[in-house]
Amino acid sequence: MDEQKKISRRKALKYIGVGVLGAAGAYAAVRFTPLNDKLRESLAKGDVRPITTRKDKIFGDQISLLAFGCMRFPTRRNEEGTMVIDRDQTRQLLGYAYANGINYFDTAYNYHNGESEVVTGEILKDFPRESFCLATKMPTWLVTDLERGKELFREQLQKCQVDYFDFYLLHALSSIEDYNRAYRDTGVLEYLKEEKAAGRIRRLGFSFHANEETMDYLLEQYPWDFVMIQMNYLDWEVQNARYMYEQIEKRGIQCLVMEPLRGGSLTRLNSEALGILKEADPKSTPAQWAFRYAASHANVLTVLSGMNRMDHLQENINTFRKFKPLRKSEYEVIARALEAYRKISQIPCTACAYCMPCPYGVDIPLVFSTYNEMVARDMVPDINGPRDEDFIRKGQEFLSYLEKTIPVEHQSHNCTDCGVCKPHCPQEIDIPAEMRRINEILGALTMGY
Ligand code: SF4
Ligand code: SF4
Repeated sequence: MDEQKKISRRKALKYIGVGVLGAAGAYAAVRFTPLNDKLRESLAKGDVRPITTRKDKIFGDQISLLAFGCMRFPTRRNEEGTMVIDRDQTRQLLGYAYANGINYFDTAYNYHNGESEVVTGEILKDFPRESFCLATKMPTWLVTDLERGKELFREQLQKCQVDYFDFYLLHALSSIEDYNRAYRDTGVLEYLKEEKAAGRIRRLGFSFHANEETMDYLLEQYPWDFVMIQMNYLDWEVQNARYMYEQIEKRGIQCLVMEPLRGGSLTRLNSEALGILKEADPKSTPAQWAFRYAASHANVLTVLSGMNRMDHLQENINTFRKFKPLRKSEYEVIARALEAYRKISQIPCTACAYCMPCPYGVDIPLVFSTYNEMVARDMVPDINGPRDEDFIRKGQEFLSYLEKTIPVEHQSHNCTDCGVCKPHCPQEIDIPAEMRRINEILGALTMGY
């Protein structure tokens, strides 16, 4: 191991507070899964299994089946009162992830208003470049011509402080027109192919939020190295992820999964669905079921999760360290839980924030996640039902939870129905209509019981 690598490793271990390793187990390309001392000892004793990796079809690299999504880092308010990434906490999380074998980190131009690429690059530069995969994405909506495409790509290399990207994605392709406008007609795809030939892109692919026809079209345009789709046990049918996955697999292209928990909603199941999962396996959490579902598909190279809490990161690492694909009987458990879950109507928001900012201050993802949480906890009163004790109790809970979770200036009642947000939602949620629905409940509650 050369001196620079020793220092890098020492830094890595400092983040997770486990001291300095001996000379054994030097870094070697992304095939190596970095481990800390304690974990290495436990592995030697056979107490735990290493985090599961899958072999990439392009270079044969071993990629961790759990990938770190850099979209939802912990945040804090700076002196000017602006929310910014909390660098210390983020460093702890990424360092811990890396030391425990996660070697795929996924950022994008627009995450955290452009700050995610910078912070991800700052932290990862402490680790040997060949020991991790860095993915980022070209912001499709900003590509106006070839020059702009070139500018964006160069800026991204600079922001991330790297010479190349391991995975480079055309971000959030939502229609054929979108793709043609940004990549075909401008020549930007040709330019990206040149960057790939020059080694500044190792694998080229796209992330996808569209229909079957668009998927078929895109798959014909280029022999992509990978495709990233939204896949979880709800979207397998609801968004026809099954079709997308099967088309990708049929062409021998590897699949990357985003939104395995559907923006967290699959961790907030209603009591009936939760009961079904608990009865089948009292020790597994809803998140573990959902991760196992996504990763059980053999053509999935890695599953992304945006982890901003250490306990979530640890739980997820544990799931993938002991990764076991679902058995047939477990698929049946999920199908039953899903049926129970779909009886209640949550808003299928993934908190991607593409609809933001709202010109009238509504925090759309926060309003929807709060509402969904109240649905899951059975706190939403039936405004068409009788004004009985149940209605009063739920009404009080609904109002007080809303009050404490969403600052008044960001609540749904600020919505003017302007419709600006609606075309930006990749989930095709009728945002103004959902705001009206929530406001109707509020109206019924504030008019008195
Ligand atoms: S429709 Fe409502 S939520 Fe959407 S941008 Fe307009 S005011 Fe904001
Ligand atoms: S409403 Fe749509 S665009 Fe907005 S955060 Fe939710 S999923 Fe994303």
